[in-house]
Amino acid sequence: MTRATRVLVLNSGSSSVKYQLLDMRDDSRLATGLVERIGERSGRLTHTPAGGERRTREERVPDHGAALGAAARELAADGFGLDSPELAGVGHRVVHGGRSFTEPVVVDDAVEAEIERLVPLAPLHNPANLAGIRTARRLNPDVPQVAVFDTAFHATMPEYAARYAIDARTAEEHRIRRYGFHGTSHAYVSRRTAALLGRDPADVNVIVLHLGNGASASAVAGGRCVDTSMGLTPLEGLVMGTRSGDIDPAVVFHLSRVAGMPVADIDALLNKRSGLAGLCGDNDMREVLRRVDEGDEEATLAFDVYIHRLRKYIGAYFAVLGRVDAIAFTAGVGENAAPVRAAAVAGLSGLGPQIDERLNSARTQGPRLISPQYARVAVAVVPTDEELEIATRTFALIGT
Ligand code: ADP
Repeated sequence: MTRATRVLVLNSGSSSVKYQLLDMRDDSRLATGLVERIGERSGRLTHTPAGGERRTREERVPDHGAALGAAARELAADGFGLDSPELAGVGHRVVHGGRSFTEPVVVDDAVEAEIERLVPLAPLHNPANLAGIRTARRLNPDVPQVAVFDTAFHATMPEYAARYAIDARTAEEHRIRRYGFHGTSHAYVSRRTAALLGRDPADVNVIVLHLGNGASASAVAGGRCVDTSMGLTPLEGLVMGTRSGDIDPAVVFHLSRVAGMPVADIDALLNKRSGLAGLCGDNDMREVLRRVDEGDEEATLAFDVYIHRLRKYIGAYFAVLGRVDAIAFTAGVGENAAPVRAAAVAGLSGLGPQIDERLNSARTQGPRLISPQYARVAVAVVPTDEELEIATRTFALIGT
């Protein structure tokens, strides 16, 4: 009998589906793809088989069903039909697991219904994730589907880190607490950091800085998350590409009362027109850094606000963890922007972390240390791989 060793990972967004097919014998990618502009007049599918040419197709993709159908056709053309006995299962990224899901689960009708019940907590994301799950189940009723939640890794946060200091009954009634996001990345990166140090994750305390367009920090003690910067939603915490991160909640009342702004507009302001973009007009750190180099004042201020917030979280997590073994930078900015890493850690040698400028600016791929050997706290760059983590967790749950 053929051993099923392939896992398809699906990341379904509101207007796009990203997919990767992995072979879990060696964690290799067999194919990757993206279906964009779902529901628009013309959609686009980009598919790349491992070692092969990228194929692009422009066609209308009315819904998630059509998106997955198109992806399945491309995979089949490469000999990776989803009806193949080699497909062990499908792993779905699901943004919000609330308090119901603290581990990946095999999807059945009850799980589907619970993800639906969590929609009010993630109105933009969970419906899209659900559409992907429903379609995949319909197309392949015999293949196990696994949901892997962005919030799950943070479920180990102690109650005092997860609660807001607001009226307890109101919080309970409306499920208001700090859930945290990017958990798949924080889990993967904290483990990889321990491996880079040659140590067991259970013995290592790590501050993970996931700096992408969205950004979050986490404090991980012995492999368990004890605090993270995102909260009820991904708006809390660090300064991001277009999100404000931490803000006095009274700004919202002020904008409503004094500026007469409707709540939906304030929501859009804080999520889409704030952060780096709000401060200087550019959300892309590459552009911000280019402008900083040119002496642009707005961009320099935006950079400084970004770094100041980041340093405050690093300091806070030293206090939360007590002992820190490593700080790990990951995601688009964390992996690529040496000036951000240098500024975030500058002057912190009293706490332990130091950066070797030569190692920091080297264009090396893969996980690496950028601190001098004598630093008391290691500083690392660890590329995240959320798809691999989802595939690994999926396979662990259903692998044969
Ligand atoms: P997302 O949050 O969308 O998953 P990523 O982790 O892919 O984002 O990060 C995207 C961001 O990474 C971009 O908006 C850009 O600011 C930043 N980025 C990518 N490459 C570089 C680079 N070479 N230097 C600085 N920033 C970079």
